[in-house]
Amino acid sequence: MAADRPERRQPQDGKAKQYNVLKFRLYPTQEQAGQIEKTFGCCRYLWNKMLADVQEFYAATDMHFIPTPAKYKKEAPFLCDVDSQPLCNVHQNLRRAFMDFFRAPESFGYPQFKTKKSGRDSYMVYCRQYRTGPSIYLTGSGIQMPRLGLVPANIHKKPLHWWSLRFVTISKTASGKYMCAATFGCGVRESERLTPARERTLGLNFSLKRFYVDSEGRSPELPGIGASREKLARMQQKLSRMEPGSNNYDQQLQKIRLEHEHIANQRRDFIHKESRRIANAWDAVCVRDTDLVELSQKLRQGGVMDYGFGAFRGCLKYKLERQGKAYIVLDRLFPAAKTCNECGYVNGELDSHRKSWTCPGCGAQLAREINTARNIRDMGLEQYLTQMENS
Ligand SMILES: [Zn+2]
Repeated sequence: MAADRPERRQPQDGKAKQYNVLKFRLYPTQEQAGQIEKTFGCCRYLWNKMLADVQEFYAATDMHFIPTPAKYKKEAPFLCDVDSQPLCNVHQNLRRAFMDFFRAPESFGYPQFKTKKSGRDSYMVYCRQYRTGPSIYLTGSGIQMPRLGLVPANIHKKPLHWWSLRFVTISKTASGKYMCAATFGCGVRESERLTPARERTLGLNFSLKRFYVDSEGRSPELPGIGASREKLARMQQKLSRMEPGSNNYDQQLQKIRLEHEHIANQRRDFIHKESRRIANAWDAVCVRDTDLVELSQKLRQGGVMDYGFGAFRGCLKYKLERQGKAYIVLDRLFPAAKTCNECGYVNGELDSHRKSWTCPGCGAQLAREINTARNIRDMGLEQYLTQMENS
């Protein structure tokens, strides 16, 4: 289906660069799966070889040097049986891993050897533009790839006609599904910056129990992740009573892997839908920057309601900004929780655990979470408008 091929041309008004990723499951034939596995294996082999050589070279000369893949093809001719691009990317990835490590060793750690058991196999292939067409493209029934041919896939979302495919990453989940992430580049028009009005602005007060309470007093409907987690706990208990290595054990392990994937999917789905809904309905959204730190501390203390606050805020930010809308982070100095939204009285004595309080200034009955959300909205908007005036 020619219409599905991504075009090279981008709209003339495209100034800003933007990337979109389509993720979908692959259903390779047995032969194709074999080729994918072979590529995984070669990438792993090459990574480990290179890493060992880097270490050896460093020990001998005190210098850091990463050899290129070409060097290894002579001693390991089977590397020629797979696409050479993923192998080049192994070199790139190892270089990047070392750069990250040298820059920030405390957060990245020294590059590690890869094993088949770690179950995190993936490789990347760039899309090349030839006179006959691109080297990789989507069709109605799958994705055309070099070496693999047409790999059947269920692609539920189609790329827009001006997106151009840059590269794809093939990976395998712990439960054994093959996945493909196709990254498209697309020029976008710079959206004009809107000046948000108060009635078009939403304040979000994040909470562990309800995910958030907004300035309208609403909370999202949460997916049944709590129930899924309970189910998972029961499955793990059952596993602990089984003989490791037995047939039953392996079957149970596979069930657990699938349940993990199910939870991750539920969460991702929730995050995308909810952030999309808000970004479309409002011109500006205000959040507090202290929320995330506090929540992550509570989560570490054993909370289970992990819905991915950070990922949600990231999604919300880019979905708003792509439409020229504002994502406002309220400075921590504003006393959003302690101020009466009706009269502005700041209640320094307020016990932060109380669900509601009466304002000593005006006598208003305030529900704590909603009052805070409204202050986040109003203070955030004021902060934003002041910044806009000064810039
Ligand atoms: Zn008041």
